[in-house]
Amino acid sequence: MKIPLEGEVRKPSKTMAGVTPLTVVVEPRKCNHGTCVYCPGGEKVPQSYTDKSPAVMRALMLEFDPLEQVRVRLKAFRVMNHPTDKIELIILGGTFMQYPKEYRDSFIKACYDGLNGVNSKDLEEAKKINESAKHRMIGMCIENRPDNCSENEIGEMLNYGCTRVEIGIQMPDDELYRKTNRGHSVRDVVEASERLKSAGLKLGFHIMPGLPYSNEEKDLKLFKEVFDNPEYRPDQLKIYPCQVIDDSPLARIHQKINFKPYDTEKTQEILEKMTMMIPEYCRTMRVMREIPPDRLVSGITRIDIRRDVEKNLRNKGKVVQEIRMRELGFNKQYFKEIDSKVRLKVTEYEANNGKEFFLQFVNKDNILFGLLRLRFSNNGFMKELEGAAIVRELHTYGKALEIGEKGERGQHTGIGKKLMKEAERISKENGFGKIAIISGVGVREYFFNQGYILDGPYVSKTLI
Ligand code: SF4
Repeated sequence: MKIPLEGEVRKPSKTMAGVTPLTVVVEPRKCNHGTCVYCPGGEKVPQSYTDKSPAVMRALMLEFDPLEQVRVRLKAFRVMNHPTDKIELIILGGTFMQYPKEYRDSFIKACYDGLNGVNSKDLEEAKKINESAKHRMIGMCIENRPDNCSENEIGEMLNYGCTRVEIGIQMPDDELYRKTNRGHSVRDVVEASERLKSAGLKLGFHIMPGLPYSNEEKDLKLFKEVFDNPEYRPDQLKIYPCQVIDDSPLARIHQKINFKPYDTEKTQEILEKMTMMIPEYCRTMRVMREIPPDRLVSGITRIDIRRDVEKNLRNKGKVVQEIRMRELGFNKQYFKEIDSKVRLKVTEYEANNGKEFFLQFVNKDNILFGLLRLRFSNNGFMKELEGAAIVRELHTYGKALEIGEKGERGQHTGIGKKLMKEAERISKENGFGKIAIISGVGVREYFFNQGYILDGPYVSKTLI
């Protein structure tokens, strides 16, 4: 790694959205249902990954030791001059909730210990220490399958401090699921989505256009359905067009079934159309898997195609609603001067048997300075959420700042507090006597200072 000059931030886009994402990888293990037709890995590296992706290479070097992975990554962020006080932990590899409980529990505890710099006696102690540690876990993302999101499993994830769950839905169609050996149904996706959101979690979908037995028309129709149908409506997406990767079942059968992935031009065209369908409450976290070219049997090698998609849409003057393209940090490259006069915009929509309020602070150019997701649903199974409105996300934008440091715009300028006040007002107006927030362990202090108390895996407040 090239050592940065003094004060130079290497790869600034990493922390542009306001948090520092730290990826850890679990040890290899095969999924219980078998292998989805396009999925590599599972023997020496976790299923669905190759040994050439940077996070997996680091994990391999460290024998998948979670504590060491956290320590090494923190050190790298420091060298690259990124802030390390607000960490979002991303747990990669296969289906986390299918790993034995003992492994999961010790993995998560070790991640907290790595951030805290001390060995705790158990997970509870590790979480407690992290509430005021130097490197605080402000969010945790777990990759999972839709059929591993039972009430019990969600309870366990919440206990770990998880704030976001990503499930692979590829394209929601039972026939495609059967033909690609997904091993779950559309119903599983619908039920998991409702349970996850009603427990206050942020919901991410992994989408895969270009599957065998699909086509462009079907892909676009199903993608539209993901937002038209209130049974889906995710908060976030990762879009991974199907590729033929060696070591996957598809590599063995693609010629026999006459399968060809979309070429670069078609992929870009479809991604542009999809981007235009994404509503204002959804963020595209990533486009394209990081598959090294020598592992591709067939498929495109342009892992940075997203840049061309975004550039093309901008050049065509398209008005994109998707979150990332509207974020403050992202837009600094396009605007010499960003107007910091912001207004509050509230959008209501039905989703997963509940009502969502999407609150945003935007300026006249629709640039996003902060957002909050508030949900009303009567179907929560967490006892702490009985009769409570739940805030599933509070995010202010701008470069990640150290805790306590004062920002010019976005983070630490009071936008978070204003969003919370508005969420409390809306909840009260709608007859809720309590508001709960899902908060990473390391953000609890922020809410304690605003009168919230610890309430199971949440922080909450009585509305009077
Ligand atoms: S569920 Fe995910 S990790 Fe498991 S085989 Fe399918 S694609 Fe691979």
